[in-house]
Amino acid sequence: MNDIRQISAQELTDFLLQNGEKKFRQKQIEEWLWKKGVGSFDEMTNVPAALRQKLQENFTFLHAEIAMKVQSSDGTAKFLFALHDGKQVEGVLIPSGQRVTACISSQVGCALKCAFCATGTMGFIRNLHFTEIFDQFILMNNQAEKLYNQNITNIVYMGMGEPLMNYDNVMESIRLITSPSGPGLSPSRITLSTVGITHGIKRLADDGFKPDVALSLHCADELKRTLRMPVTKHHNFAQLQEALAYLHEKTGKRITIEYLMLKDWNDSVEDARKLFRFCLPFPVKINLIEYNATESGYEKSPEENVKRFVDFLESKNMVVNIRHSRGKDIDAACGQLVRKK
Ligand code: SAH
Repeated sequence: MNDIRQISAQELTDFLLQNGEKKFRQKQIEEWLWKKGVGSFDEMTNVPAALRQKLQENFTFLHAEIAMKVQSSDGTAKFLFALHDGKQVEGVLIPSGQRVTACISSQVGCALKCAFCATGTMGFIRNLHFTEIFDQFILMNNQAEKLYNQNITNIVYMGMGEPLMNYDNVMESIRLITSPSGPGLSPSRITLSTVGITHGIKRLADDGFKPDVALSLHCADELKRTLRMPVTKHHNFAQLQEALAYLHEKTGKRITIEYLMLKDWNDSVEDARKLFRFCLPFPVKINLIEYNATESGYEKSPEENVKRFVDFLESKNMVVNIRHSRGKDIDAACGQLVRKK
């Protein structure tokens, strides 16, 4: 049996007509699927019971579920999602002022093995289907209403996995979430974060990608970066800079650079100078990220190193934000998402 969310609008219409149903039911059903985001046929209350029954008999309805929820003392909430095959991924809701940001996963596990990231220790298990990415949004949006009396205002593709290594599903999930006939979130409120998959960045440029793009650079010394982020071997700095310049040229967007501050590794003034040089070919905004403890055993930069680093960048007129982590007490912060198999 096919999954109801994996057939085309035309296939659904054909099914309805063959079963003596009216054509307008297709729109009705699609609205339940992609606007309200229900998880079962029973919830489609304006669809007659007999038709719901027929749908039930002819289609499966694979839907993610919340298997666990933990809330941090700072309001951040982490969710464990159970997928139809028993695999699990995590997502996080981060309330701040008028905003509620949802951090969502794009893969089960991750192939990239960045030395400081807990998700990397899982290895790559599988890509998420676009319905599974969409479900994380819908389920967390319902939770956001309950927890904070508010809908999700922003999404970051910064959960488990590398979004540009699951390009088509990630793009389809963004299309659905931003669709006016769906939740209708503005693309400008979405950020896709990548470790720097160069052909993926070029593809975003060619596809006229509307959301923001963030690069997890973390180190602007190519050799040093290669040692802790082995992906650098296959996507070197020259290619990366070229791809980012191309993205800027095509979309007009400023690139967000994420930079994790690790003690005595990437936090000297010389490192800041390298970062400045790396960013010369395109306009950027820099987010300095505080390191969150994982079992990898690295140490976060002391405040005075962070200050020197920021002072240098600001002396070069760069836009720098310092990001303090949320949800650390529940292991929901960046780099802490991991499932033991
Ligand atoms: N694969 C994509 C999406 C994941 S985003 C990417 O790397 O951009 C998760 C972010 O958290 C990345 O910037 C990652 O490098 C960062 N991160 C990993 N481990 C971390 C840690 N221990 N503390 C803080 N940030 C970490």
